[in-house]
Amino acid sequence: MDRMGRRDALRNLAAGAAAAGGLGVAASAVNAQGWTDPFNEGFDGSEFVLPELPYAYDALEPHYDEETVTIHHDKHHAGYVRGANAAMEALAEIRGGDRPGSEIKHWERQLAFAGSGHVLHTLFWLGMTPGGSEPTGDFADAMEDSFGSVEACREHLTAATGSVEASGWGILGYLPLTDSLIILQAEKHQNLTVQGVVPLLVIDVWEHAYYLKYQNNRGDFVQAWWEIANLEYASMRYAAVRGM
Ligand code: MN
Repeated sequence: MDRMGRRDALRNLAAGAAAAGGLGVAASAVNAQGWTDPFNEGFDGSEFVLPELPYAYDALEPHYDEETVTIHHDKHHAGYVRGANAAMEALAEIRGGDRPGSEIKHWERQLAFAGSGHVLHTLFWLGMTPGGSEPTGDFADAMEDSFGSVEACREHLTAATGSVEASGWGILGYLPLTDSLIILQAEKHQNLTVQGVVPLLVIDVWEHAYYLKYQNNRGDFVQAWWEIANLEYASMRYAAVRGM
């Protein structure tokens, strides 16, 4: 691959990561009632930012103690924000030719780790409130439709979270494909995604996808794939995801 070709490939490769930075959530983050999702405060339009807690540090006592909340938010979560911004900056420098392309694996891993940490911690804080609260409206109906009952959802999420192997998360999410709620375990934060990213265009690099023709030359397959990439489909899906 010549130098420009390589740089173009890197630019294209990293475009997904750049989209992850914006997450494209702005359009969908305001619901029909005009409620704006405070999750959006985790990104200011150019950088990830550490949102302030929506309650006092001691507001979740005695269930969640002030000291843990303070360290968890001010130190741990803040570290993920710094890490995610550093990764986005480094990836931009790679695209611009100011860092070697050989660093891309390192920084993509950093982006997945810190970006997912930021997204999940932002949701974690918003997912707690002093005294707790009950599900309402369509969401309560969705819990019943997806799991049988609100209580069954609670039990499933409890069991899934409790049995995550090593470090990780229990996640109650929405799967657009089935228009239903889904419960997942996440090991670590990432492996290797930024949680919340909606895939637009994907490249299979399992060996079964290219080995018969390309053998061990995965890079050649990826280069060839760009000749058949359906960016029009990705464009339409992008518009659909953003509600445009
Ligand atoms: Mn944490």
